[in-house]
Amino acid sequence: MPLTLPIDHAPEPTSGAGTLFVVATPIGHLEDITLRAIRTLREADLIAAEDTRHTRKLLTRHEIATPLISFFDHNKEKRTPQLLKKLLSGASIALVSDAGTPGVSDPGYHLITRALSRSIPVVPVPGPSAAIAALSVSGLPSDSFVFLGFVPRKPGKRRAFLEALQFEPRTLIFYESPRRLAGLIKTMRDVFGDRQAVLARELTKIHEDVLRKNLSGIGRYLRTDDPLKGECTLLVAGFQYQKDVDPEAVQSYVKWLRHRGLSPSESAKRAARELGVSRNLAYQQALKLEKKQGAQDTPSGGIAQD
Ligand code: SAM
Repeated sequence: MPLTLPIDHAPEPTSGAGTLFVVATPIGHLEDITLRAIRTLREADLIAAEDTRHTRKLLTRHEIATPLISFFDHNKEKRTPQLLKKLLSGASIALVSDAGTPGVSDPGYHLITRALSRSIPVVPVPGPSAAIAALSVSGLPSDSFVFLGFVPRKPGKRRAFLEALQFEPRTLIFYESPRRLAGLIKTMRDVFGDRQAVLARELTKIHEDVLRKNLSGIGRYLRTDDPLKGECTLLVAGFQYQKDVDPEAVQSYVKWLRHRGLSPSESAKRAARELGVSRNLAYQQALKLEKKQGAQDTPSGGIAQD
């Protein structure tokens, strides 16, 4: 259960407490680690690692002898109070995940929020993250993007999750296991249409592969390379507002806005503005939608066009 801190949470650090260092580690290539990360891992009293065997390889490579303790999804509830106790008694702990930046789609978040709520200093030691590495070479717009992490596994929830993103104009970034990727791409094609996408696989490793195609092209590739292996990050282009959007697309955009609580008139106005279509077309489609759904906006049953 995520712990949300109040917005004005700015407590004095607990006196005598050690620091929780959130240390980014390589997503593949063992040389992708900063000098500061190496020093922090060396100087910390303890390293809390998602997979101690995996992290030990990194430590051996960089001749680091700091003791390791496991901290993963299934022991995080039990482990957190033990780590907090050590931190409160003055020990410094370096938190690392399997790969990349702790707290980004991994159990690090749990410990970070609990440490913050006890006023323990939490300090980032930045470095790699699969999402940013993939975005940086994707060729998709990178000035603005949305990181979604792992999508729900159940088909109904997954579809609803994607439908809520249908008109999101920013580049979308997902993590997914290679086993579920083909199914995800298929649902994305249904929901998003055949958009530009990038499959970034095994970044920084020997079999690094970045596939830049549309969703159907990636789907075809997955069928030929079966079963797909390795770590995968998937990026999908955001929704492109076009001048010549067809009426059905306008209607589904109005529907999407209605689901987000806008009135029919507001939805039509916003659809016209954001899709670059005439107000008349947007109002017509809003009206059609209301008729279809048997809903009424104004007391007269019409949609106020101002
Ligand atoms: N905290 C990590 C980060 O900052 O990137 C991510 C942790 S998440 C549990 C692991 C997911 O990241 C994988 O399932 C995969 O989707 C993605 N990933 C990790 N390493 C990758 C790599 N070398 N290439 C592509 N994607 C990778």
